[in-house]
Amino acid sequence: MVRRSKTKYIFVTGGVVSALGKGIAAASIGLLLKQRGLKVSILKLDPYLNLDPGTMSPTQHGEVFVTEDGAETDLDLGHYERFIDVNMMKINNATAGQIYDTVLTKERKGEYLGGTVQVVPHITNEIKERIHNVSTTNKLDVLIIEIGGTVGDIEGLPFVEAIRQFRYDIGAQNTLYIHLTYVPYIAAAGELKTKPTQHSVKNLLEMGIQPDILLARTERTIPKEAKDKIALFCNVEKGCVIEVKDQSSIYQVPLELHNYKLDDIICEKLNLETKEIKLDAWRQYVKYIKTPVDKVKIAIVGKYTGLKDSYKSIIEAFIHAGSANKCKVELVWVNSEEVEHSGPEGMLSEVHGILIPGGFGDRGIEGKLLSVKYARENEIPFFGICLGMQCAVIEYARNVGGMKNANSTEFARKLKYPVIDLMAEQKKIKRKGGTMRLGAFDCEIEKGTKLYKAYKKTMISERHRHRFEVNNDYINTLEDCGLVLSGKNPDLNLVETIELADHPWFVGVQYHPELKSRLTKPHPLFRDFVKASINFKK
Ligand code: GLN
Repeated sequence: MVRRSKTKYIFVTGGVVSALGKGIAAASIGLLLKQRGLKVSILKLDPYLNLDPGTMSPTQHGEVFVTEDGAETDLDLGHYERFIDVNMMKINNATAGQIYDTVLTKERKGEYLGGTVQVVPHITNEIKERIHNVSTTNKLDVLIIEIGGTVGDIEGLPFVEAIRQFRYDIGAQNTLYIHLTYVPYIAAAGELKTKPTQHSVKNLLEMGIQPDILLARTERTIPKEAKDKIALFCNVEKGCVIEVKDQSSIYQVPLELHNYKLDDIICEKLNLETKEIKLDAWRQYVKYIKTPVDKVKIAIVGKYTGLKDSYKSIIEAFIHAGSANKCKVELVWVNSEEVEHSGPEGMLSEVHGILIPGGFGDRGIEGKLLSVKYARENEIPFFGICLGMQCAVIEYARNVGGMKNANSTEFARKLKYPVIDLMAEQKKIKRKGGTMRLGAFDCEIEKGTKLYKAYKKTMISERHRHRFEVNNDYINTLEDCGLVLSGKNPDLNLVETIELADHPWFVGVQYHPELKSRLTKPHPLFRDFVKASINFKK
């Protein structure tokens, strides 16, 4: 007897190579099903051993995405939120590290007393438990589970085994295996090659999983004969080999998958009764991404400019804000260390807006401060996020407030003017993982400010990830010399936002607004920043 299930489960695995866009595929499927009226969520299972990506360098792992409830998670959760417009929580991302940690903690408590603790069944059971937990907590119609990495990776084996058992437990009518593969074009042969896909599916079959649907990433259209060949060799129904061609925008992907009837196929296979799909609003936003009527250049002055994944949510927030303004935002990546060496003019004189993103450590800080000064003095729209806001405060204190060498205690000791300092509750913390000020906090906005103009309300909530803050000892001094402290945390009286009154658009926020921007709900601050940049260009 198989277990009864109200929720249907779709497992997304990847093969051949990494970076094929499994996250985008999972998010796109989620969007299509949600727009057919189903209650959907997504769980990312990451086979690495870190408890979470919070302690990894963004150059290793890309951006750390922070959830409402303060979990530091994989950047794919950002895609899920941007596509399906549902808040992901801590339970929507589980790493092998967390799973082993849970099992080993139970072992120490004696919960397996007398038994041998093994990958099968203890680790696999814990993986299955986490999957059930997401669907029951949210009472879902459909849960999509994306397995990180590529099929065949050593560390991924327990996850693949767990999802094999999952179908065994609740039956084929409640589960679907979707495998994303790559069909490369070999220029020398002038041909698309299906062999890597065949091998990847063989790999899955060896582990007991027969995929139901294949999504074939490709740069060129796959001819019908090649698709039929893949279907035959991989034992997949003919209509279930779906090509996913490179798109100029990731937001086009769900529309393409819909054109290939992927949502119909899924609903039929899982026996899901749904409403008519609603994609008009989505299409409208995609239209202005693809055919903007204006264009602006915005500089991002940061440290990890070579690896764009480090700033994933910021890049996406600009795409959303661009679409809302019918404008293409061209991002100009500026290394702050270079600004430090050669001055801001050469690198920033051509742009219409300047953004300084979040970051850690003192490398490149003086270049960031020069960039703030340049934006402030030349009335170029400026947006400082987290560390970017802290830089704006330091620059203002030094150059307007006359506080010579004002700085953050993150970058220098024995300061006369520590305008940015560790938060009180941070001072005693020694452990690194998961100990920053994390997740959603309220912020009360002063009426008549640029912030109020953007949000149009006095109470907002935004997500944080930092240890330092504006030093409350300097609030009066900073206000006296003209800095507008437009938003405060009502419970802790922390300065959350700053701005300048006599500047077209100069805003700094201690939180990360980019984490809450979604294609169909562009973030108001990014929207207004882009608008101000368009005005500056004119
Ligand atoms: N390093 C700064 C802090 O910890 C800023 C962090 C950030 O930009 N996310 O407060």
